[in-house]
Amino acid sequence: MPHEPKRRHSRQRKGKRRASIKLAVKTGIKCPNCKNMMVSHTVCKKCGYYKGKSIIKIKEKSSEAGSRSAGKNNP
Ligand SMILES: [Zn+2]
Repeated sequence: MPHEPKRRHSRQRKGKRRASIKLAVKTGIKCPNCKNMMVSHTVCKKCGYYKGKSIIKIKEKSSEAGSRSAGKNNP
């Protein structure tokens, strides 16, 4: 059986731990097609392009995506 933590960590300690997580920069490159940040050596999630060719077709849900992003920006 695993050990139980003796005490709960304080908010400060939790924040300190999570601060380092947030600092980590995601490695990625700019998509040459849509200039969106993407993981290298993979198909772009936004436009579905890889090496200048469209590999997968992305369904355009502009209205839905717009409302989602707007909701995130305005809490
Ligand atoms: Zn792209």
